[in-house]
Amino acid sequence: MSAVVSELETVREGAFGNAVALSCRECGAKVDLGPSYACPECFGPLEVAYDFPAITREDIAAGPANIWRYKALLPVPTDIEQSPNTEPGFTRLLRADNLGRELGIASLWVKDDSTNPTNSFKDRVVACALSAAREFHAKVFACPSTGNLANAVAAAGARAGIRTVVFIPSNLEQPKQVNSAVFTDSLVAVDGNYDDVNKLAQEIAAEEEGWAFVNVNVRPFYAEGSKTLGYEIAEQLGWRLPDQIVIPVASGSQLTKVHKAFQELIALGLVEDKPYKVFGAQAEGCGPVATAYKAGVDAIRPVKPDTIAKSLAIGNPADGIYVLDITRATGGAVEQVTDDEIRDAIVLLARTEGVFTETAGGTTTAVLKKLVETGQLDTSLETVIINTGHGLKTLDAVSGRVGPRATIAASYDAFEAAGLA
Ligand SMILES: *Cc1c(COP(=O)(O)O)cnc(C)c1O
Ligand SMILES: [Zn+2]
Repeated sequence: MSAVVSELETVREGAFGNAVALSCRECGAKVDLGPSYACPECFGPLEVAYDFPAITREDIAAGPANIWRYKALLPVPTDIEQSPNTEPGFTRLLRADNLGRELGIASLWVKDDSTNPTNSFKDRVVACALSAAREFHAKVFACPSTGNLANAVAAAGARAGIRTVVFIPSNLEQPKQVNSAVFTDSLVAVDGNYDDVNKLAQEIAAEEEGWAFVNVNVRPFYAEGSKTLGYEIAEQLGWRLPDQIVIPVASGSQLTKVHKAFQELIALGLVEDKPYKVFGAQAEGCGPVATAYKAGVDAIRPVKPDTIAKSLAIGNPADGIYVLDITRATGGAVEQVTDDEIRDAIVLLARTEGVFTETAGGTTTAVLKKLVETGQLDTSLETVIINTGHGLKTLDAVSGRVGPRATIAASYDAFEAAGLA
């Protein structure tokens, strides 16, 4: 296994706040906080474990309007706001009455994470990974990415003054390439799909000293950043949990961490304990978790992605089995939709709520619609969907669907003739 630093003792006291260990999700074995991601006993994934002090709603509300208001619940030092970072989070939670009416859902909200600094939810996870990389004295801040992660790593690294190298599949949308390359001179396009890029990153992490791959060797710290989505939704609803939530699934990390966040808030007494259903959204062209869910099996068979939802195109999702556990245990589901349904849903969300989402949010919105149509979602219950990225990054998905209604001469006659009055 790789080590970002060879001498873990160099990590300073309090570097990870209230976090106390890394804990194996399979066997529960405990490992010291460090740049490790696989259990030394069983190779299961490691996640951050905490010993939280009493935390009040007032403590949190007194914090900044970004994810660091929840710093006591994250593996970051208490002075984290002093370090240069992109300050993501506390994005708007929009009431979506128009879309709710259209779909027949009584109470619907959109958590709009497209307004983060690099226009996707990935700024949250990267901010936490950057803190860990800094504490591990990493020389290089890196990632394999389906696009948005590369944007967020490149921007955060630039602000923090740390060298970045980001790896993407070479067939990625042009806007996502430019959105990385503008921040870093080391965007690397790899011939292959995301799973190939990820394998390469694991090899480099094992060979090279001092490379912090946000979603590989510092993955446990990275993953905790997604919890802030769950905290914010609860706080913005007035410190309560929604009844149902629909979350897009790539590796599955975000979905599992939103659930972890809700559980932590209950355990800390910050929200009332109540049942809620978690739903996962995938594209048919890359739906290994949805397929396993439908088949009622626990094993996820990897697929070769073929979908316009490139930010969700992970054929071998690391957290897929935990997504199955959580959706089944809470009474939710994992559903999948076609590329055409995704395109339609991007336009539907835009025209009903004025929110332009990328293909991942199109997937989530289309899955919401399908869950209603198939009777899997209870339309009388309060429901939240997460829009994880901005439509300007995937313009091609809808550029054939929308455009000028008419092209006319600059004359009133031509306007009248076009029948627009
Ligand atoms: C990465 C990403 C996701 C999902 O991420 P997980 O790997 O499942 O945590 C969802 N939406 C967008 C836009 C993303 O970039
Ligand atoms: Zn283990």
